[in-house]
Amino acid sequence: MKIILTGDRPTGKLHLGHYVGSLRERVKLQDSGNFDEIFIMIADAQALTDHAGTPAKVRENILNVALDYLSVGLDPKKATIFIQSQIPELFELTAYYMNIVTVSRLERNPTVKNEIAQKGFETSIPAGFLCYPVSQAADITAFDANVVPVGEDQAPMLEQTREIVRKMNDLYGENLLVEPEIYLPGSKVCGRLPGIDGKAKMSKTLGNCIYLSDDTATVAAKVKEMYTDPQHLKVSDPGHLEGNAVFTYLDAFCEDTATLDEMKEHYQRGGLGDVKVKNYLKEILENTLTPIRSRRAEYENRPEDVMKILKDGTDKARAKAAEVLSRVKHAMKINYFG
Ligand code: ATP
Ligand code: MG
Repeated sequence: MKIILTGDRPTGKLHLGHYVGSLRERVKLQDSGNFDEIFIMIADAQALTDHAGTPAKVRENILNVALDYLSVGLDPKKATIFIQSQIPELFELTAYYMNIVTVSRLERNPTVKNEIAQKGFETSIPAGFLCYPVSQAADITAFDANVVPVGEDQAPMLEQTREIVRKMNDLYGENLLVEPEIYLPGSKVCGRLPGIDGKAKMSKTLGNCIYLSDDTATVAAKVKEMYTDPQHLKVSDPGHLEGNAVFTYLDAFCEDTATLDEMKEHYQRGGLGDVKVKNYLKEILENTLTPIRSRRAEYENRPEDVMKILKDGTDKARAKAAEVLSRVKHAMKINYFG
């Protein structure tokens, strides 16, 4: 069996980083026909670990994320889209996994460390937030997933999940849980797309995003203000590619590598202005976003239909998670009543 699980936190609309880091790969895997089951989770419970005070924001973004999914071409006939908080089995599994993970191991997780610094939690880290990698292990293993297509920031989570699987299997039975593999996008750039400000990661939290739902004018304005090479003042100056967000985006989106290579060479030599490069990027982003926008338009005014897709997906996902939980409880000998 080949089973996928992946997902996103409903903390905002999805952006180009999500697209190249995970969504684009998911759709390809979905359409490859190579997978027996595909589970796509809207991780609202995980979002609440750092948004406990703003549940309305999380709720409102469930629909945004679902619309983003349908817009990029995730197909509810092929992929089961569901809402995390509605599957209590996931929280039961999390509770048992908690017992085999140490606090110091959680504190060493580099992504979590980074996020704690970024969010300014300092010494008041919500316990749920520190433990979200454990809940992610529950999400993945509850579906017997062996393939997890995500961006690079998720690598430490997958490592931690694999450790938990090995420990559980050691303690309670050799083939109890399935050890998952991370599935990263083909290129480094796509695994961590920088923001339009050139900063390390495009992220909802940092507010440096181009959203999949941005219209043409908004995308144009954002590309216009994008970070390039601060030393490239005159068109005739030689330009640099490193850290130049416009070229990084071209690497992630442009399929015409011959034209792109020629542009890079010209830019480095001098004589190619930022405006021209930005116009080219705008055109390519429009080509990417146009079909996404038209699929969005089909669903946008039918929120009840979208909620029905989520309800059906959640029912199906819950049945699968219940099976796995029952297997785990049986292995742990805590199935007292048959
Ligand atoms: P938040 O700030 O709320 O954590 P986020 O923008 O980091 O939001 P997530 O929902 O945490 O988004 O991540 C969802 C998926 O998108 C993960 O697989 C993650 O690796 C991927 N992803 C997020 N940002 C990027 C990015 N800039 N480049 C590539 N992949 C990304
Ligand atoms: Mg994140």
